[in-house]
Amino acid sequence: MEIVIIVLACMSLPLMIAMLFASASVKSVFSKYDRVEASCGMSAKDVARQILDANGLYTVQIAACRGVLSDHYNPRNNTVYLSQATINSCSVAAISVAAHEVGHAIQHAEGYAPIKFRAALVPIVNFTSRLITPFLIFGILFEFIGAFSINLSNIFYMIALICYAFYCLFTFVTLPCEYNASRRAKDQLSDLGLIAGDEAEMASKVLGKAAQTYLLSFLYSLTQVARILLMILASKRNNNR
Ligand SMILES: [Zn+2]
Repeated sequence: MEIVIIVLACMSLPLMIAMLFASASVKSVFSKYDRVEASCGMSAKDVARQILDANGLYTVQIAACRGVLSDHYNPRNNTVYLSQATINSCSVAAISVAAHEVGHAIQHAEGYAPIKFRAALVPIVNFTSRLITPFLIFGILFEFIGAFSINLSNIFYMIALICYAFYCLFTFVTLPCEYNASRRAKDQLSDLGLIAGDEAEMASKVLGKAAQTYLLSFLYSLTQVARILLMILASKRNNNR
């Protein structure tokens, strides 16, 4: 068991590097297919509206947001936000991203279980994420002081571990939400005749690259859980000496 934890913890740096590459790759694939105009000739905003209407989601709004590839769906105000680079673009990349965000709106409307679970985790993770670093610092500090404080140090490490486990669970639950939204996007784009020929493959590449970053985030969060577990094991070993 310990060897698995050590191997996982050692994967932390390679995964961090992979995440940087994946993030750069998302941008490069997006900009490649952002130069290819979709045959439907519609903007991302119009495509989003058409898919929403086709699914009876007439009350879902579409609005612009700042930032690069910051497109998202906000269930609190029932709005699909498309970034400035996307909203008026007629490219294959832009309509694919818009369709993906609409996919999240459809998930919420249908009560898709993983998105409901993910939404329930958001306030918990927002709170617990803030506690990870302080409790790790307390743990290290009390371990350094030694003697009676070792037990206290382990308690702090355990709290940090539980908090990180929530984050890890969140990144795990995000996976089905993202893969499902991308699958819905591709289906909707094809079924409504918004993409044709090799545009389907281009859309798959744009959405596939984005999904990769979520998978890497989950794997990286697993390595962080392993690292905290290693700190607990090392602290217990010191305590037993
Ligand atoms: Zn998404």
